[in-house]
Amino acid sequence: MGFSPWSFILLSCLKSVNLLIGTVRQSYLGTPPYRIGGCPASCRGVPRSKDFDKASFRCYDMPMLRGLFSGFIDLVYPKVCLVCKDSLKNKAAAAEMLCLACWQKTKKNLPPFCYRCGRHLGKPTLNKNLCPGCIKNPPAFDRAFAPCIYDGAVKELIQSFKYRGKDYLGAFLAKTMVEFIREYHLPLEYIDALIPVPLHPAKLREREFNQAETLGNAIAREFGKETLNTALIRKRNTKSQVDLKDAQRLLNVKGSFAVTDPVSICGKNLLLVDDVLTTAATCSEAAATLKDAGAKIVFVMTIAN
Ligand SMILES: [Zn+2]
Ligand SMILES: [Zn+2]
Repeated sequence: MGFSPWSFILLSCLKSVNLLIGTVRQSYLGTPPYRIGGCPASCRGVPRSKDFDKASFRCYDMPMLRGLFSGFIDLVYPKVCLVCKDSLKNKAAAAEMLCLACWQKTKKNLPPFCYRCGRHLGKPTLNKNLCPGCIKNPPAFDRAFAPCIYDGAVKELIQSFKYRGKDYLGAFLAKTMVEFIREYHLPLEYIDALIPVPLHPAKLREREFNQAETLGNAIAREFGKETLNTALIRKRNTKSQVDLKDAQRLLNVKGSFAVTDPVSICGKNLLLVDDVLTTAATCSEAAATLKDAGAKIVFVMTIAN
């Protein structure tokens, strides 16, 4: 039997119906918390029978419309690499966003690192361990780390993850952070808890998920740490930092965070998690708020800088 366009359309419709069934089942059992792709260890290998434990039911994570929509999008636009636009035959490559070749070409953040902001130190500076930015305006956090440079393919992935609702990309991006932590032996054993940089409720409604929380939860799971998702909040909805100059960025975020649970912060070593560290204004302000509440050490981990 030949493979006609109609069988292709039928297959795509079946895929969409399958997603719809999954979503209906999800709404029947209750909405799971937003989480990144794949099943957690708790439901791996557990058969999905009628009396499947409701509390551990987390296998469906796509909102209904997004699931249906992506089924039809796959039909009209077959998956291609975000960078080279080649067809993505190898599904394992970079969460179905980049082909393996493009992912291997992404810019990794390599040592020597600035001792504060974690950026690659390109040329020798007067002070061997600090970049000029950190000498001029020392950030409030103790140290920051990032596995990639915010450019090219990584920038595309982060923006798709953050602004285009591709929350499932978080699994892949978090994995690069976990690998970096392992490769450079970052001292996670001294960290008491992870704190994702919070979004203002208005921004959270708009974006549907907090990208920092997705990353933070994934890293915390990997290292058996606690994530404090509500101890730090945004009390002011700040303007986007994208179009602001460095000095304006600092002013824009000044006083925008607050600690709701000082007991969980005081005397603790914390790892603040966000997607990108650009001028470091946001992470520095968040760290300053945590330190005012008594945090002992505040490290920062982002995907890129
Ligand atoms: Zn490619
Ligand atoms: Zn620096």
